[in-house]
Formats: sequence, structure tokens, C-alpha cells
Amino acid sequence: MTKVAIVGGGLAGISAARHAMANGYEIELFEVGEKFGGRLANTVIDSCVIDKGFQVVNLNYPELRKLLSDKRVDSRPIFTSLNYVDKNGERRDLSPFNIASTLSTASGSLIQKISFLIYLFSKSNSSLTLRDQSSRFKDLNNRVLSPFLSGVFLASPEKIRGDVAHHVLRYFLVGRPHLINGGVGNLIRILMEDIPKERLHLISKVTRIIQNPNDQLLSLIVEKEQREENFENFDYVIVATNGKIGEIKGTTGGNSRQWLASTTVYHKVNRLPKRNRKLFLGSSFVNSVVASEANSTYADANSSLIATTFLGELPESIWQERKDEYEAEIASLYDCDAKELRLLSIERVANSLPLFAPQKPTDSAPGQLSTLDHSFDEPSQNGALRSGRLAVEKILQATALRR
Ligand SMILES: Cc1cc2nc3c(=O)[nH]c(=O)nc-3n(C[C@H](O)[C@H](O)[C@H](O)COP(=O)(O)OP(=O)(O)OC[C@H]3O[C@@H](n4cnc5c(N)ncnc54)[C@H](O)[C@@H]3O)c2cc1C
Repeated sequence: MTKVAIVGGGLAGISAARHAMANGYEIELFEVGEKFGGRLANTVIDSCVIDKGFQVVNLNYPELRKLLSDKRVDSRPIFTSLNYVDKNGERRDLSPFNIASTLSTASGSLIQKISFLIYLFSKSNSSLTLRDQSSRFKDLNNRVLSPFLSGVFLASPEKIRGDVAHHVLRYFLVGRPHLINGGVGNLIRILMEDIPKERLHLISKVTRIIQNPNDQLLSLIVEKEQREENFENFDYVIVATNGKIGEIKGTTGGNSRQWLASTTVYHKVNRLPKRNRKLFLGSSFVNSVVASEANSTYADANSSLIATTFLGELPESIWQERKDEYEAEIASLYDCDAKELRLLSIERVANSLPLFAPQKPTDSAPGQLSTLDHSFDEPSQNGALRSGRLAVEKILQATALRR
């Protein structure tokens, strides 16, 4: 039986494992962390669900639909109402498609909104940026799309490939963006249900991949509880560690990518009296949201959970220095007293997303070792899932060539 090792238990690795099993391969999945999920792993603190940031799952992602087939995922739709808060604390309702703001010109004229809809449903060009493509809806782009996309890409959309921005906007506006009940980690649990437990290795860091020229098989050196273990006789290895590809001896690539960091601060507060079904786009933070309004399973019945995301790693020293200022800003969004905010967690993700600059993704030829670099194709969960599937398709091609 063909044996495939998969390194990295995030979405890409799990997708690779599921597709490999569906093709009749025997798999072993190695994850350095204490749980599977990578950027989609979450924790629960004081009855609140803490994701690594505001993770919205689009149930219409084609790759997700393939893997879920008839599996049930409990989730709630997120809201699409957008508010922008400028440096002076002024709020503007910018939702392009709710009736009141469609009629208002705060987010751009009606003609611009129609031009935007035409753009949304037409084909995009990979060599342009969103700014190049938005001359017919400039105000809408400057006032709504760019601030919104800065939070999605963690960089100014002016630097982002036009087709990637187009793709993401389509998914948000015509997809089914949901928050998973109990946190995004529950999606991981559902996706992993069919993988036999004995094939899964947690707290297992792959440090080296060795290609044996005599028998054409590959071995893995795995660091587990400070001991090195050797796993041998793999026909193929898929490396789905994303930004950390080059850190494993025997692999190349990954290191030249520019990675962007994000920090999400989670606050618990007594249940907010007003409904706050808005995504706030801000100046010191990129976005803030009451996650428990979108999905009540994110907090207990008496509380609300606020998630506020900042660009970069927000070092502890800066947080301490500016905590009062930031918390006053957050409290003012939700009309509560800053003293009521209880800090639950600060989630710093160093390799949050790569910069999606206009650049073609690299695609290695079918071989025994696949290192996934999907990040330049699509910045989303769908991109990660797709890269796992494509790696298995490469194995199918390579197997056909070897025969
Ligand atoms: C804050 C935030 C919000 C996001 N929001 C959205 C969103 O709303 N919608 C959306 O579609 N996408 C979103 N994304 C993007 C999405 O999370 C990623 O595209 C996706 O999770 C990437 O999955 P992955 O498997 O490629 O990488 P990862 O999840 O990073 O998985 C890689 C895994 O490899 C493991 N690993 C690394 N080195 C080794 C080693 N040597 N040995 C063994 N294991 C190793 C890591 O521990 C990790 O578990 C967001 C990302 C962040 C950070």
C-alpha cells in the first residue's frame, strides 16, 4: 500500500490526509502542537470561545463542501453591517447593501454601487491591484472596501493582487459567511472524524526529511517529548507547515515569503444591552466585533465577547502602555464603561497571513516530496484546503509516471 506522511495538522494537512485516504493511501499525520487545527485551533476561557482571531467560515467554499459532503456543521451567519470609526471617534455606517446606507452617499453614489456589482460578477485580472480595477467605484473603494480588506489581508489592498481581492470580496458578499458553534476548532473536529486515531501524532515536530536513494523511500526524523524518533518507508511526504517549510532539513522554499502578523484581543463584558451586529473598522485597530452577537455559543448567556484585531504583533510593552486608551476606544464602540471590560486573552499570530503581492505562486513538478505554498494562490481556508487536495493529485500523477 502507498504510504504518505503529512507534516502539519492545519487545514491544508487535514485536507491532504482526507484526500489521500479517499484515494486508498495509508497516511500518518504529524503535528507539532498539542491539538490539530493550526490557525483554526481555539481555546475556551471563562466560558468564552477564543479563536486565534476573527475566523469566519464560508460554508460555500467549494473545497469545504467537497470534504463535508453530508456532515452537519452547526453555525450561525455573521452580519454584513459595516461601521467605520475615524481618528476622532466619528462613526459612519458604510454597509454597501443595507437599504438605509444604499440610499445614503456615505459609502459612495448609487452608480458606484452598481459599478461595483458589475465588477463583482465579472472576471478579474491577476496582474492588477484592486485600486487599478476600482476607477468606477473609487469612493466606495476608499471608504468601505479598502478599510474592510485591510483587516482581511492585514495590509493595504493597494499591495494585493487584484484577482485575490476580487475573490475574497465575492466570497464575503455572495457566499455564506458563518461563525461555527463553539468555535472554529469544531470544524476541525468534524473534518477529522474519519481519520483513524492511530494515524495521528500530536506534539510531534518533524525536523528532517531524508530521501533514501537505494529504495526510493523517505524517512522522517520526529522530535517527540525531547526524544528523536525515526518514521520510515514513506512513498510520499506532503509538507503542510506553510510559512515554516524551509525550517525542516531536507526541504527548501517558504523562507523568502513576507509574512504579516496579527493580534486579536478578547474582552468579556456583562451582556451588552443593545444589539451590536456590526463589524467596526477602525484606525488604531483594523476591526472589532461582538462575536457572541453573531453566534451566542461564543459566550455564556450573561456575557458578551468582543474580539478586536490589530495589525502586527502588538508587543506586550505597547499593550501595557496603551491599554487604557485602546480599552476606552473599544468601550465607546459598544456604549459601555471601559472598567467593565475584562481582558480574557491576547492572541498574537506571527505568521498570520503572507503578503499577497502580485506574484505568481510556485508550482513544483510531481515528485515524492510536496511542499505546499498555497498561500500565494488564495488567502483563505479554501486555499489551504485546496492546496492539500492538489498535493494528493500530484501524488496520483507521480504514481502514474513511476509505473
Ligand atoms: C487571525 C486570522 C483570521 C483569519 N480569518 C480567516 C477567515 O475569516 N476566513 C478564511 O477563509 N481564512 C481566514 N484566515 C486564514 C486561514 O486561517 C488560513 O488560510 C488557514 O488556516 C491556513 O491553514 P494551513 O493548514 O495552511 O496552515 P496552519 O493552520 O498554519 O497549519 C500549519 C500547521 O503546521 C504545524 N507545523 C509547523 N511546523 C511543523 C513541524 N516541523 N512539524 C509538525 N507540524 C508543524 C503548525 O503547528 C500548524 O498546526 C485567517 C487567519 C488568521 C491568522
